Amino acid sequence: MSKVILKVEGLKKYFPIRQGMFNKHVGDVKAVDDVSFNVYEGETLGIVGESGCGKSTTGRLLMRLLEPTEGHIEFEGKVISELSTSEMRKARRDIQMVFQDPYASLNPRHTIGKILEEPLIVHGIGNKQERRKKVLEYLNIVGLSDYHASRYPHQFSGGQRQRVGIARALMTNPRLVIADEPVSALDVSIQAQVLNLMQKLQEDLKLTYIFIAHDLGVVRHISDRVGVMYLGKIVELSVSEDLYAEPLHPYTQALLSSVPVPDPAFEREQILLTGDIPSASNPPSGCAFHTRCPFKTEKCTQVTPTLREIKPGHSVACHLYDDK
Ligand code: SF4
Repeated sequence: MSKVILKVEGLKKYFPIRQGMFNKHVGDVKAVDDVSFNVYEGETLGIVGESGCGKSTTGRLLMRLLEPTEGHIEFEGKVISELSTSEMRKARRDIQMVFQDPYASLNPRHTIGKILEEPLIVHGIGNKQERRKKVLEYLNIVGLSDYHASRYPHQFSGGQRQRVGIARALMTNPRLVIADEPVSALDVSIQAQVLNLMQKLQEDLKLTYIFIAHDLGVVRHISDRVGVMYLGKIVELSVSEDLYAEPLHPYTQALLSSVPVPDPAFEREQILLTGDIPSASNPPSGCAFHTRCPFKTEKCTQVTPTLREIKPGHSVACHLYDDK
């Protein structure tokens, strides 16, 4: 396997809950609770889970758009969890983010040309002429035309805006791109186009992706490995083929059972999860999934399972595999 480009160890983000006149600290929302994983150069790591599971918070922590409560984040040997604000600003040249709602992240008063030029100005890349050339080049590589540079965000469709969002993320030639639900807001037909574009750009520009989604179906074809998150923790992490062929964690099994299968001869029984996702401010004891798990035992309600490699490249946090 290729080299580790990003190493995450014991990452936590707790948001304090304060109450009363004296703003007393009465608890924490444990949005990300002891998450560890590696990302290998050139791969796509999918991170999947229901809303509120901590996947988007994890993405923002890696960019230091949010400050971690605890944990170690190392990118290409540099400990980014310890960089000063100005050092981190420089490091963002190499790590960029694509957001779910490109419209909200594109300044409506700026032309697309100006929006794409901005990261180059921030990082002091090129003179005016060189920057203009790069703007047009990147508009073209995401499937847009030169004349789009003088248009405004509201003149674009959702799919085109996401192409602009992708182009903007790539302007500084990053090595790692964190895509936070980049196709969730798009029509299904457009989703496939944007996913294909991202895959092509990954090959052409030798990019590494972390691809965050709430649906295992979306990340299936783009991910080399997939991590499944539940209530702030990774409950399963595996090479994609293995995860889709033989999901081990009951939560992954339930998520996967709701993904439509293209082959009508292959029927999968749908596992319906009952109950809502519990609150991260008051997570259940033991295995946090036990309130919804059809296989829970007494042990599950008391002992928190740890993420363990059960077979090569496939780890799970579940007591069903304690003997394996
Ligand atoms: Fe279910 Fe127990 Fe496994 Fe948690 S540890 S997923 S409750 S079987």
